[in-house]
Amino acid sequence: MVLDTQLPSRSSHEASSASQGPYESGFDADIVIVGAGIVGATLACALRNSGLRVILVEAKPKTVGLGQRRAYAISLMSSRIFQSLGIWDDIRPEITACDRIRLSDGAHPSLVWLRPEDLRRSEDVVYVAEHNAMLRPLYDRLEQTPTLTWHCPAQVESVEYHADCAFVHLSSINGPSNGPSNDPNDVTPIHLKTRLVVAADGAQSPLRQAAQIRTRGWKYWQSCIGFTVRTEKPHNNIAYERFWPSGPFAILPLPGNRAQVVWTAPHEEARRIAALPEAEFLDLLTQRYGTQMGRIELETPRIVFPVRLMQSDRYSLHRLALVGDAAHNCHPVGGQGMNMGIRDAAALAQVLARAHAKGQDIGQTQVLRRYDRWRKPENLLILAFTDVLDRFFSTQWLPVVALRRLGLWMLRRIPLARAIALGLMAGQLGRKPV
Ligand SMILES: Cc1cc2nc3c(=O)[nH]c(=O)nc-3n(C[C@H](O)[C@H](O)[C@H](O)COP(=O)(O)OP(=O)(O)OC[C@H]3O[C@@H](n4cnc5c(N)ncnc54)[C@H](O)[C@@H]3O)c2cc1C
Repeated sequence: MVLDTQLPSRSSHEASSASQGPYESGFDADIVIVGAGIVGATLACALRNSGLRVILVEAKPKTVGLGQRRAYAISLMSSRIFQSLGIWDDIRPEITACDRIRLSDGAHPSLVWLRPEDLRRSEDVVYVAEHNAMLRPLYDRLEQTPTLTWHCPAQVESVEYHADCAFVHLSSINGPSNGPSNDPNDVTPIHLKTRLVVAADGAQSPLRQAAQIRTRGWKYWQSCIGFTVRTEKPHNNIAYERFWPSGPFAILPLPGNRAQVVWTAPHEEARRIAALPEAEFLDLLTQRYGTQMGRIELETPRIVFPVRLMQSDRYSLHRLALVGDAAHNCHPVGGQGMNMGIRDAAALAQVLARAHAKGQDIGQTQVLRRYDRWRKPENLLILAFTDVLDRFFSTQWLPVVALRRLGLWMLRRIPLARAIALGLMAGQLGRKPV
């Protein structure tokens, strides 16, 4: 079987000239991972001791990835995965552990508090980490991995899938590992022969689209405004999720008197709010945020993200696997997207390492289906959870309002209900990869 899967941005002429080359040579790697965001880098790190040779291809210079100013809620399960990779001790001093999570329904006075004790744990169960607090230790570890080769900045242009191998054609800027070029025309074509290609190339995943893997889902009526603030008073390590009819509003505590805000609103309203002059924006933010943290200052620009739910029909094909946002996207409520991707990476690494140890061909559908069967249903559950949460709290229809007040009452009164909610957020349900 030969499937020449050309990425949408390339013309057929470019693809055919790129594919002339090293067809007779041996394998350059066992696995080519496309995308060195947190998910792709976690997968590469998880494969370090597997005996498999890995090539990591990233389009953006490393300094750009490391410079991203975003923060995420990170679950207990993700922390376990980072522990197993030996990088948790580098990450932990840079991030915040949430002592408590406060849930509330708009202006309604009753509150639900979730605490580690609800899971009968004395340790922390949810953290907040900035992008580079996770990416830097991952990259540092990968720099010390002799079985890994970087191509960065380098862009994958097309992929050919054959019965016994795949060819990845990429344009490397200024050679394989020499860092960013000053001359944008200084592009070297590179051809890699591999057993397996992993798409960790984000929500638009050119590799998923080129392989014509169907996706299901929808765009929400909402966008998210994401930014970091500095506060006058300490946040006391409390994370807030407040459900307004326009959408959820989350505050994630960061080290120092700082916090990441994720503010969801209908598209038009989100764009209008994000474009307000700073003083007006901060006034509105204080109305939403409350006055408990004193004066608030913006630390980063306000970035607006449209929100969507997406699940790929399959997470693998012959010689191709999808991980992270390439496979699924969810509403940011509950902070699950990155955690799902980190877990995909750990699960896929485990499946591949075991297959390799048994002498199996890691690009075969039979091997990759184990990963599909493991992660697809678990991710579907989380997608459904975030969707229901968003819809349930965004409506003012009285029967639903009554039902959600009952739900919040149950969360306050019934320890098992709190344990299930927190267990889901902390990644404690489902098959564990570590
Ligand atoms: C507002 C908002 C808030 C969020 N909050 C949270 C949260 O609190 N907790 C949480 O768990 N998740 C959260 N998420 C979700 C999270 O941001 C994503 O799930 C996560 O960033 C996906 O990581 P990734 O590595 O799969 O993809 P990406 O980070 O998109 O990485 C993909 C990489 O692939 C590279 N690439 C793409 N195409 C090519 C190519 N052809 N060749 C080479 N390289 C290529 C790109 O340059 C990029 O570096 C949030 C999302 C939003 C929108």
